[in-house]
Amino acid sequence: MQVYGLVGNPVGHSLSPPMHEAAYEETGLDARYVTFEPARDDIAAAVEGADALGVSGLNVTIPFKQDVLELVDPDPLAERIGAVNTVDFGGETPKGYNTDAAGVTRSFERHGVGLAGNSAVVVGAGGAGRAAAFALSDADASVHVANRTAETAVELAEAVPGATGGGLDTLDRIREADVLVNATSVGMESPDETPVPAEYLHGDLAVLDAVYTPLETQLIRDAAAAGAVTIDGAWMLLLQGVEAFERWTGRDAPVDAMNAALRSHLESD
Ligand code: NAP
Repeated sequence: MQVYGLVGNPVGHSLSPPMHEAAYEETGLDARYVTFEPARDDIAAAVEGADALGVSGLNVTIPFKQDVLELVDPDPLAERIGAVNTVDFGGETPKGYNTDAAGVTRSFERHGVGLAGNSAVVVGAGGAGRAAAFALSDADASVHVANRTAETAVELAEAVPGATGGGLDTLDRIREADVLVNATSVGMESPDETPVPAEYLHGDLAVLDAVYTPLETQLIRDAAAAGAVTIDGAWMLLLQGVEAFERWTGRDAPVDAMNAALRSHLESD
């Protein structure tokens, strides 16, 4: 039996276990997915210990994504983003990936939204914002990052080829954009709050909200009312998990089974 897992603190409410277990069941893979919650100072020992015990792969979440970058051999994209959310122990040395980036681009692909040559606005410049900005740029979109703390957006934009950055006063760029990603946590704790004034949304836009609790955020409602393509945060969560499954196993992931498991858990919360 192979063991995969999630390392974070806290991990109690994670949706990754049911999503990955559904994939093992659907594909007949003899594997289990478990959660680990080490203390902040124990992450290096935890990763080394998992490797020594024969764990096949780990997902990594808050607060360890940056720490783990230093503990594994990161691929170039994870290195540029500055965070690892997936570790593969299958090779000589543990390899680190950032599958949140693929979660963003695969979400647009799956909804028939082209990225190459299009213009994208990313709101937020934390972990999800960094993954989105690099992913969209690698997919040949031109990227503008808008963040509450403008300096963080400017710093990120300097690292992303061709990108620009600014404060939330630059959100009017959305009027001319093809693609919008909300990578802030706005809408999570106060479901009627949105990071984006509804007047900037329009019918030629595709909107991905990284927030997935609730699934229908105010931004998603406003975007739908404006006639935009809407993509809720469960797609990004699903497709980062799909990318992790495929990197770990070398097989195509059973996307529909994983989606059904994820959505049934989200809807029952
Ligand atoms: P993070 O690193 O802490 O970054 C938080 C971001 O939100 C920062 O840009 C921050 O701006 C901004 N922000 C926070 N409160 C704000 C407010 N009141 N007004 C405007 N901006 C505000 O967090 P993260 O890991 O990037 O996660 C961000 C969101 O994405 C969370 O809701 C998380 O659950 C979600 N997420 C979803 C997925 C998925 O698979 N669907 C994956 C990763 C993350 P400042 O820089 O100014 O503080």
